[in-house]
Amino acid sequence: MAESLPPNRPRIPGSGLVKGLAVTLRTMTKKSVTAQYPDAQPDLPPRTRGVIGLFEENCTVCMLCARECPDWCIYIDSHKETVPAATPGGRERSRNVLDRFAIDFSLCMYCGICIEVCPFDALFWSPEFEYAETDIRELTHERDKLREWMWTVPAPPALDPGAEEPKELATARKTADKLAAQQAPPVTEPHADEQARAAEQPTRPQGDSKQQTDQPKPDQPKPGQEGSE
Ligand code: SF4
Ligand code: SF4
Repeated sequence: MAESLPPNRPRIPGSGLVKGLAVTLRTMTKKSVTAQYPDAQPDLPPRTRGVIGLFEENCTVCMLCARECPDWCIYIDSHKETVPAATPGGRERSRNVLDRFAIDFSLCMYCGICIEVCPFDALFWSPEFEYAETDIRELTHERDKLREWMWTVPAPPALDPGAEEPKELATARKTADKLAAQQAPPVTEPHADEQARAAEQPTRPQGDSKQQTDQPKPDQPKPGQEGSE
């Protein structure tokens, strides 16, 4: 059975006008939230998704980001290089060398999947957003431009007190300590003959140095003054 409609209330003449004026007055007394951009720069949160920066040194050309990008807007070219064996008799190794890394920001939908899936921390969000172009082709940022964006990536937030040190820092410190130990001059052990000679040398009692024994005592006449009086 259909619900019965509420009875029509009698309309008070001018009530709509009063309601409208009330809304206007309420809005007029509220604090304005309009930012005068570009004169006033917005205060963006640190995790803002503005543009993507590439830290090229960390990229191993694994292609994961390009494969997972839903818009297929990451372009990577690379070639293989043979690295000679590190030790005699060892095996040569091959590694990927990056030739091209580009992101087409006219296609990118800022989902962040590429940054999430990168296993080597080579991609980062930057809050920088002022890169509009009049030519759409300019929105394809090549590796040099993507590297420049890295300067605008904010530092990560500080760890909670008592938190475990990140593995990357611990590994970097261990490597630095190892390098410092390799570069330090070797500590040479004294030769056995020198040790024996040092053991044979008589030790002088403390406070009776040669300088003190050769010096005339204050109440003794000096060698040239003997018998002059
Ligand atoms: S943010 Fe999303 S759409 Fe943009 S490049 Fe990364 S994976 Fe592709
Ligand atoms: S996922 Fe990371 S390491 Fe792999 S190609 Fe992309 S940026 Fe380079």
